[in-house]
Amino acid sequence: VDLTWPEYAARVADSCPVLLPIGALEQHGQHLPLDTDTMIAVRLAERVAGDLGGIVLPPLVYGARSLARSGGGDHFPGTVNLDGSTLIALVRDIVREQARHGVRTLIALLGHGENDPFVIEGAVLGQRDVAVADLRILVLGWWHVVKSEDLEDLFPDGFPGWDLEHAARVETSLMLALAPERVHCERMSAVDPVTPPPYSVLPTPQGTVPVQGSLADPRGANEEAGHALIALIRTRLVDAIRQALTDPGSEIVAST
Ligand code: ZN
Ligand code: MN
Repeated sequence: VDLTWPEYAARVADSCPVLLPIGALEQHGQHLPLDTDTMIAVRLAERVAGDLGGIVLPPLVYGARSLARSGGGDHFPGTVNLDGSTLIALVRDIVREQARHGVRTLIALLGHGENDPFVIEGAVLGQRDVAVADLRILVLGWWHVVKSEDLEDLFPDGFPGWDLEHAARVETSLMLALAPERVHCERMSAVDPVTPPPYSVLPTPQGTVPVQGSLADPRGANEEAGHALIALIRTRLVDAIRQALTDPGSEIVAST
């Protein structure tokens, strides 16, 4: 958004991809800021845009409802949820507006897991609104391109698994690499283990989420792992995007 409108017009006329980071305002334990998901999405989008010659739009800084089993849930102060219909409408409008100005490649880079189905829905509806045959939209979460094996290599002491990765080792390591001054390492602690039910209860009952807010112990996060993850994610996202754009029938690298 440093661009002037003629600069934007020239870039778009030159088929430049446009990236939309979509984060959340959500509790991230005792040691990470509420805007963690947004910050990670923005910083990764800047790197990917650098590699692809793309433009990064201002992020969506609010996200879909935080769920107990993936984001700790919405009973923590500071977590601000969008209704799914709101997020769908925002994405739909942005798709339509970007397409109207000639954008033909739009990449929604997610920093918050719960955004995924609503962003896909908004993208599909926006695509339907504009009916431009060559408008291509990718919806990618950075975690989609990280495999369990990668994390076993990066965290030899063990990785508790994606189901518990909220404000835990991975997000904390990314933040230590991206913005160490915003991580309160001295506040990291073990979390009280809980076994959430494999279904959703609404409102979220107390006791199904660790009171600390992290879903697993963040200790073991480190800046070195964060830098390695950023390099890996950057390369994989760029590869996945290039592949999807040149060979739309092919599948993007899936997480396991
Ligand atoms: Zn997060
Ligand atoms: Mn989140």
